[in-house]
Amino acid sequence: MHFTETVYRNPYWPTFPLLQITQGCTHNKCKFCSMYKDVDFRLQPLEWVEEDLKEIAEISPDATTIQLLSANPLVMSFEKLKHILELINKYLPNIEYIYTQGRVSDLKNKTVAQLKELRALGMKEISLGVESGDDWTLERINKGYTSEDILTQCHKLEEAGIDYWMTFLNGVAGAQHSREHAIESAHIFSQCKPKVVGTGGLTLFPDTPLLQEAQKGEFTPLSESQMLEELLLFVENLTCDATFITHHTISGINLTESDFLKRKDQIISSLRHEIKYGNHDQMAMIRNTKKTL
Ligand code: SF4
Repeated sequence: MHFTETVYRNPYWPTFPLLQITQGCTHNKCKFCSMYKDVDFRLQPLEWVEEDLKEIAEISPDATTIQLLSANPLVMSFEKLKHILELINKYLPNIEYIYTQGRVSDLKNKTVAQLKELRALGMKEISLGVESGDDWTLERINKGYTSEDILTQCHKLEEAGIDYWMTFLNGVAGAQHSREHAIESAHIFSQCKPKVVGTGGLTLFPDTPLLQEAQKGEFTPLSESQMLEELLLFVENLTCDATFITHHTISGINLTESDFLKRKDQIISSLRHEIKYGNHDQMAMIRNTKKTL
């Protein structure tokens, strides 16, 4: 298999087989991210993709799922992506679910009709690293799109029948804008129909502009309890139904089941309990050992 570093895969999707079709991230400018700092974006050579598919077909000819890598394979043009999906169907004729991840802006160059074609070829679920629905925050972290873009592109996915995930990056607005980040994100997410809402907590990694800003006093990170307060505010204001996943922030609470709206009160109680009684020092220690997103 032709895997090139750095490779990220969604751990909630089947982690075999994986097919890398791009290297790096086209954007590579989010202030909190160092994942692809030293990797130039390029398309994986088509012959590599085909060789990898042949290898997968030998090991698992009846595979029904596959996850596409790396940061944002969705950025490919419709034609190129369609060709790769056709190759997947050729080598893995039982394929039912093709998972991929991407940026909200990767969807701009695809029409609803094209997305429907991709879905018909198996692309049924996409994870979008949205991070915030608050325009001040999106600009501050250099995300490269606006809340209006989020709504437009997510609604296109809904029309095309493609399931999608939205992520909320807890803490990324810092203390200066925490409240607005939580409320506006919940407001924008609630106007969409994600299959999953996932939340992760901000870690300031070496070699990121956000860490440098924090060191200069231009960005004030949240404490663990402030992070939980922000997450609570986000949850209180979130009104779309979805599977709700939180990690990075809470230890010992399982919030990974579906039916968010039915479980919202229970989630809120758990968060309040964690704010009052949680071991915040331990959470900070776990966060400090993290090496990457
Ligand atoms: S967070 Fe995602 S979009 Fe932003 S630079 Fe990192 S990989 Fe690219």
